Amino acid sequence: MSRLIDIKSLDLDELNEFILSMNEKKFRSSQIYTWLHQKGVHSFLEMTNLSKELINKLSETCSIVKVEQLDCLSSKEDGTKKFLFELEDDQVVESVLMSYKYGNSVCISSQVGCKMGCKFCASTIGGLVRNLKPSEMLEQIYAIEKFSGEKISNIVVMGTGEPFDNYDNLMKFIKIINSKEGRNIGQRNITVSTCGIVPRIYDFADANTDVNLAISLHAAGDDVREKLMSIVHQFTYEELMASCKYYTKTTNRRITFEYSLVKGINDSKDDAYLLTRKLKGLLCHVNLIPMNNVEGRPFEKSDEETIKNFKRILESKKITTTIRRALGQEVDAACGQLRRSYTNKSNNESKRT
Ligand code: SF4
Repeated sequence: MSRLIDIKSLDLDELNEFILSMNEKKFRSSQIYTWLHQKGVHSFLEMTNLSKELINKLSETCSIVKVEQLDCLSSKEDGTKKFLFELEDDQVVESVLMSYKYGNSVCISSQVGCKMGCKFCASTIGGLVRNLKPSEMLEQIYAIEKFSGEKISNIVVMGTGEPFDNYDNLMKFIKIINSKEGRNIGQRNITVSTCGIVPRIYDFADANTDVNLAISLHAAGDDVREKLMSIVHQFTYEELMASCKYYTKTTNRRITFEYSLVKGINDSKDDAYLLTRKLKGLLCHVNLIPMNNVEGRPFEKSDEETIKNFKRILESKKITTTIRRALGQEVDAACGQLRRSYTNKSNNESKRT
C-alpha cells in the first residue's frame, strides 16, 4: 500500500490541520475539499485555483484514491444497476444503484469480503480480505453518480462487509458524505446495517447521529438464528435486544429489523408470534426480505402466501412491517454474488493460463 496520505479520507478538520502544517492558508483546505468531494477530480493538476507550488507539494505527499469500473449490469425489470469496481490493490467490490419514487439510492460495500459468516451470504465465503478506507466508500458513490448522471439522495451501507467491523472508517465516511462542504447527504438519508455487533451498537447509540440503523435479525431466538448467522456465537439474542433497547432509548430513533424469510427455517406462524413477543414495546419496524437464492447455499425462499401471513401476524400485534421489493434478481443483486462470480471467473481463467 502507498505511503502517501489518502487525502480523500481526511475530513475537513483534518484537512485544515494538514494544510496549516504545510504553512498554507486555511481557505486552501475548503478549495481542495470542494475539488475532491463536489467536483470529483482525481488529479491535483485539475485544481486550477491552487498555486503551482501547492499542487507540487500535494502531488509529492498525497494520493487521490480512485476506483475503476469493471462492470455494470442493468436489470431490465426495474432498472437496478449493479457495479463492480476495482480498487488500487486489484481487489474488487460491488455497489448497487436503485431507483425509487423518492430518489436514487446507492448500496455500498464497507469491506472486501467479510468474516461474519452469515450462512446465506456469498460475501463471506472467502472470508475478510480487508477494510475499505473512507475514500473507497465515498468513491463508490462518486463513481456511480458520474457514470449514471443521476443524483444520489440516499445511501445504504449494506453491501459486502460488516460496517461495524470497520467502525472508525465508517464514521469518517459518514462525516465526509454528510458535510455541507462535501456531498451534503443528510444523515436521515443514510442507513447502516449490521448483523449485530453489540458493543458497536452501544457506540453508535452514544454517537447520537440521525443515521438510520438496520439490524439483520432473521430469527426470533438464538436456536433458529444460529442456523443462519455465526454472530450468535459472539453475542446472544438477549444481549442484542438489550443493546437495541439502549439504542432506541438513547436516540429516540426507530430500528429497522431485516428478516430474510427462509423456507422451513424461520418462516412459521410460531416464528412470527415469537418475534412479536421479542419486539414488544421496542421502537422498531420489520422489513421482510424474500431471500435471493445463493449458489452453493442450501436455503430456499419462502413462498408468497407464507410471507404475507408472516406480515399479517406481525401487524396484528401492531408491529409496522414491510416486504422489501425484490430488486435486480437477474443482475445478482444479493450481497456479494457478482463479486464472487467475477472472482471465480478470474481464478478459473488464471488456472487455464
Ligand atoms: S450478510 Fe453482511 S455481515 Fe453477514 S456475512 Fe454477508 S456481508 Fe457479512
